[in-house]
Amino acid sequence: MTTTASTTVPAYGAEEVQDAGYVDVLIVGAGVSGIGAAHHLRDQFPDRTFVILDAQDNRGGTWWTHRYPGVRSDSDLFTYGYRFKPWRGASIAAGEEILGYLDEVIDEDGLGQYIRCRHRVTAASWSTEDRRWTVEVTRGDTGRQLRFSTGFLWMCQGYYNHAKPYRPQWEGMDRFQGTVVHPQRWPEDLDLAGKRVVVIGSGATAATLIPAIAGKADHVTMLQRSPSYYFAPPTTNELAVTLRGLDVPEEWTHEILRRQYISQYDWLARTSMEAPDELHTFLIESVRPLLPEGFDVERHFTPRYRPWQQRIAIVPDGDLFEVLREGKASIVTDTIEAFTEHGIKVSSGEEIPADIVVTATGFNLSVFGDVAFTVDGEPVDFTRRVTWRGIMISGLPNMAYTFGYFRYSWTLRVDLVSDLVGRLLALMRDKGATMVVPTLRPEDADMQLRPWSDPENFNAGYVMRSQHILYKQGDREPWSHMLEHEQEREILPEVDLDDGTLVYR
Ligand SMILES: Cc1cc2nc3c(=O)[nH]c(=O)nc-3n(C[C@H](O)[C@H](O)[C@H](O)COP(=O)(O)OP(=O)(O)OC[C@H]3O[C@@H](n4cnc5c(N)ncnc54)[C@H](O)[C@@H]3O)c2cc1C
Repeated sequence: MTTTASTTVPAYGAEEVQDAGYVDVLIVGAGVSGIGAAHHLRDQFPDRTFVILDAQDNRGGTWWTHRYPGVRSDSDLFTYGYRFKPWRGASIAAGEEILGYLDEVIDEDGLGQYIRCRHRVTAASWSTEDRRWTVEVTRGDTGRQLRFSTGFLWMCQGYYNHAKPYRPQWEGMDRFQGTVVHPQRWPEDLDLAGKRVVVIGSGATAATLIPAIAGKADHVTMLQRSPSYYFAPPTTNELAVTLRGLDVPEEWTHEILRRQYISQYDWLARTSMEAPDELHTFLIESVRPLLPEGFDVERHFTPRYRPWQQRIAIVPDGDLFEVLREGKASIVTDTIEAFTEHGIKVSSGEEIPADIVVTATGFNLSVFGDVAFTVDGEPVDFTRRVTWRGIMISGLPNMAYTFGYFRYSWTLRVDLVSDLVGRLLALMRDKGATMVVPTLRPEDADMQLRPWSDPENFNAGYVMRSQHILYKQGDREPWSHMLEHEQEREILPEVDLDDGTLVYR
């Protein structure tokens, strides 16, 4: 078996730690969240010093990590784009276009000078006496150890480990003679011509990759254990075409389209809760006519979970269904028994021949970028901590995190959380406070702690695999999270930051 190469970090030995200085705000992560956080910070507090650290070789987070053929958004870019920066392209965008959009934000805001790539944050220690975080960093290129300090830590690290994708081990993998690839580490020189490719997985990644490679490979088989929901909207939004044809300012088009998409997401999120059976039927029936005559929709396209308990995979213009109709791709729904020398054997006894196997099997979830946190010398055990509105953590001073939506575009929450953090920093300044800590009130002492995600609500595999290492939520506000945008866009701008759950010193 050949697997794709991993990056090597030179060992630097017992090098002296280099003091990298103090910044007012230290942002971890240069993806959609970190770049958005930096924009809002600069906008509201032009005098504050800050830096953005990212472990990867380049900015972009998810869109830098995932560069497999066909990688694209599965949200519309009017809501996946920021509130403050109009999206000028088609509704669904390729990964490269999203990187281009982020680069424009970086250029327009002059953020480039503050982004330090190949800087992996390994530890963060809060000192109440010094009122600051000390942040330990390892450089990815030289292995050198750096030490930053900061008054406020803004974690924008995303939710999964970018360096180690999730790949289950199957029996016989070592005897497989072909190549095994993970979409998170796609080799640039992978030659697909004339190859039989098996893509293991049924989520958004499989759905975008398969149409992109189906014309190049000899044949592509999507091998799924169980089906996912799909929806096939057009890539181009007619309303955007009309507005652009009328020469309406791009800012207006952006705002109008945002409202259109947000109202659609509202409907989808509400219907998934209130009328899941109707939504289930709607989704299945919308893909049926796109499939070849007599296709076994019940077996291959009828999920066992409720819509939106996991993300709905978007198939713009139905391109996945097109390659199925053309016979360039096919689907097997079964469990893998073992890899063989030349393919994969499934429970039915069938052996699917393969030269290349793509494991589109998802992520290893990572809690706050695997940073080891301590507060006044005490290691932080996140499993015993509670979220404050999905933005801060109980007992962790001067630390906020940006985590987006699963059911709406992630970025809608980036703008909302940034507004709240801005208000928080302004309130601290007005109060003359140097420390803010989410703290359970006496009336919260007996609060029932609940898992990070209620499986009835959202149960994607990568979340369920990692619930045991995640922080908790309570049974009441503000100690809960996973509210939808429909509620949060009303609640967050009005949150009383002086309600006794945030303690200022
Ligand atoms: C292929 C794919 C398509 C997606 N499409 C959509 C979509 O269409 N719509 C949607 O809403 N969501 C989508 N998502 C979810 C997506 O992850 C979010 O939309 C968004 O990109 C997350 O941005 P982020 O900046 O919070 O995190 P990330 O993009 O994960 O970036 C976090 C960055 O932080 C860095 N980092 C982490 N830990 C450390 C550390 N310890 N030290 C230094 N740096 C660190 C990482 O290197 C990374 O660069 C998609 C996800 C994938 C994988």
